[in-house]
Amino acid sequence: MEPHVTSETRPSEPDYDSVDDVLTDRPSGAPEVDLSDRYEFFRVIQGYLDDASKVVGLPAHLSEMLAQPKNELIVHFPVRMDDGTMQLFKGYRIQHNNLLGPYKGGLRFHQTVSLDDLKALATMMTWKCALMKIPFGGAKGGVKVDTRALSEDELMRVTRRFTHALGNNIGPNYDIPAPDVGTSGQVMVWIMDTYMNQVGHAAKNAQRAVVTGKTLTCGGSPGREKATAQGVVHCITEWAKDNRFDLEGKTAIIQGFGNVGSFSALLLSKLGVSTIATGDHTGYMRTTEGFNAHKLSEYVKRNGSIAGYEGGKSISREEFFATKADLFIPAALENQIGAAEAKALDVKLIAEGANGPCNPEGEKILVERGIPIIPDVLANSGGVTVSYYEWVQNLRSETWDLDEVDRRLEKTMRDAYQRVFTYAREKDITPRVAAYCLALEHLGQAYAERGIFP
Ligand code: NAD
Repeated sequence: MEPHVTSETRPSEPDYDSVDDVLTDRPSGAPEVDLSDRYEFFRVIQGYLDDASKVVGLPAHLSEMLAQPKNELIVHFPVRMDDGTMQLFKGYRIQHNNLLGPYKGGLRFHQTVSLDDLKALATMMTWKCALMKIPFGGAKGGVKVDTRALSEDELMRVTRRFTHALGNNIGPNYDIPAPDVGTSGQVMVWIMDTYMNQVGHAAKNAQRAVVTGKTLTCGGSPGREKATAQGVVHCITEWAKDNRFDLEGKTAIIQGFGNVGSFSALLLSKLGVSTIATGDHTGYMRTTEGFNAHKLSEYVKRNGSIAGYEGGKSISREEFFATKADLFIPAALENQIGAAEAKALDVKLIAEGANGPCNPEGEKILVERGIPIIPDVLANSGGVTVSYYEWVQNLRSETWDLDEVDRRLEKTMRDAYQRVFTYAREKDITPRVAAYCLALEHLGQAYAERGIFP
């Protein structure tokens, strides 16, 4: 199947994207939107690309090419709601780069989803796959929707109509989505099933690999659900080893208690690290004894948030960020750690489970304060790494056991951690820019060998 992509050539000035995005979402007659406070995530990511391009001496034309996604697809699709009314939804798929392999990246279902943010996240996926030396490119997508306002049936219909709207712009050898904020193994299975039913009967079963992060029964990989958190924890243990830091009996605070946050708490508890404060979209909580990670995870699965959990005392967001602990794992959304949070944090290490949790002002203060950061592109790359294992298993009709997945992931994460931190020390740059540099060196070499068509 030939993909048919709606590609827009946009001005290199990213401001236009933000304006365009806000304006298209503004109902007619609504007051003009003040863009001055809008966080420009994509511009921030482009800034790190510029810094890293200078360090590695990337040719200007490559730096310019990599600063923009290859394709930006926007779809509008109608869905019948439970009360019989029809609602129009807006979905996106941003395909940043496919030099190293098929486009790869998560789907986010959230009310804040925007073109600008997805461009930033898609770009980061390219760096992540290049850094981890996985044969994938970078992509990201999503639907602007508050999933908490949907019934299970409505969520299924939104997912299936969105998949239909994407058509053959996704595919096992072209663009492979995965879970992100607001999506789950179940959502991936609906996508797989819808996609499979759009191709001919004979080809149907070869299409399983169109998404990763599926449930085990429907072609998922053992270890995928915990993979992102497992990767974060491998980075933390590698940092602890390098810094002769005994993790046993230590404490952590975790922002976000969804997939990445809850599995981080569970895996850290096995190392003797207790989570003493956490929070989600409903608020924050603290307990001096440490949460029972297993019980809290079960509670969140049943209730959708930490609200009402009795094992901790409610605290403010400010109190959460000021809680003294050894480790901090941001595992919610981007732009959570600005100047105020960076000044308040009283921790020894930050391991970024979330993508882009520190904004540049926050990061500057953390660097000045000497608080080390294991950057997102490295720390949370366990997810895409095990997604790659799932894809390989699907293509080969194999099922690996959990030990096999765990063993491969651990080796890959430890190796990547050492490459990033060694590079950062040698060049006297932050691990974030070092991770970008390693990714760019890999991509730059591939472009040099292949050349630019024609
Ligand atoms: P999730 O939907 O499972 O959980 C998100 C969590 O963030 C929830 O607890 C939610 O309540 C919380 N949250 C949302 N808005 C918040 C706010 N304003 N303040 C505080 N908390 C808030 O999503 P996830 O898959 O765990 O993803 C979390 C982060 O990790 C995202 O940045 C995502 O891009 C990144 N990530 C996820 C994966 C993966 O495999 N799922 C892989 C790599 C990176």
